[in-house]
Amino acid sequence: MRLTANDPVVIATRNAGKAREFAALFEPLGIAVRSLNDYPQIPDIVEDGETFRDNALIKARTVAERLGVPALADDSGLCVDKLGGAPGVYSARYAGAGATDADNNAKLLGELGKLAEAGDTPAAAVVGGREVRLLSKARFVCALALFVPGKPPLFADGAFDGFIVDTPLGDGGFGYDPLFYAPEYGATLAQLPLEAKNAVSHRAQALRKLRELIAGAPATGSETE
Ligand code: IMP
Repeated sequence: MRLTANDPVVIATRNAGKAREFAALFEPLGIAVRSLNDYPQIPDIVEDGETFRDNALIKARTVAERLGVPALADDSGLCVDKLGGAPGVYSARYAGAGATDADNNAKLLGELGKLAEAGDTPAAAVVGGREVRLLSKARFVCALALFVPGKPPLFADGAFDGFIVDTPLGDGGFGYDPLFYAPEYGATLAQLPLEAKNAVSHRAQALRKLRELIAGAPATGSETE
């Protein structure tokens, strides 16, 4: 693999927040970062992989091969034990194409509600003074793929374990955060301050691992394998 200060790493996202997070990862290594906002000629990429890694690789490889420079992509989602790992790679569109976070959360509670009707009796817990039901164990997962043209891809994964609760709590975060209870913090991810979530999340863990993988290789300006 070749990562040098002369070659920017393109982050395969148009989300400025994500691009900033990744810029911070590469900054100590002296590597410049661009995002797809700098390359409007790259069309939207179809994420039709079966795993988070597949999707991250599809995005990173497409961008790297189109532009001829190293590219990094992430893919993330929620895996719910009692739903056999769903919604998984379909997390963003669980309630259908164009679904909002509220639609997806309602669909999730609906699916878990069906299990309760079928006789499943969830445990109770008190979160922020409120009694809730713990509907299922669940896990947020994030996969990162770094693709350098002509070289094998580099992967890093992160996971964050918790429970799905029957009542949305908190108004921070995004996506499934109001329904995701993290017992070690006694709160849903939507109740945690953003900095606290960002320090421990599945994305943070994957980023840390990728940083170790990159930093473990010879630094800026030299060839890395
Ligand atoms: P993507 O990786 O940006 O495509 O995100 C996939 C989907 O997974 C999002 O639209 C959210 O529904 C869900 N998701 C991923 N990470 C989180 C998180 O940290 N909190 C809540 N939902 C998340």
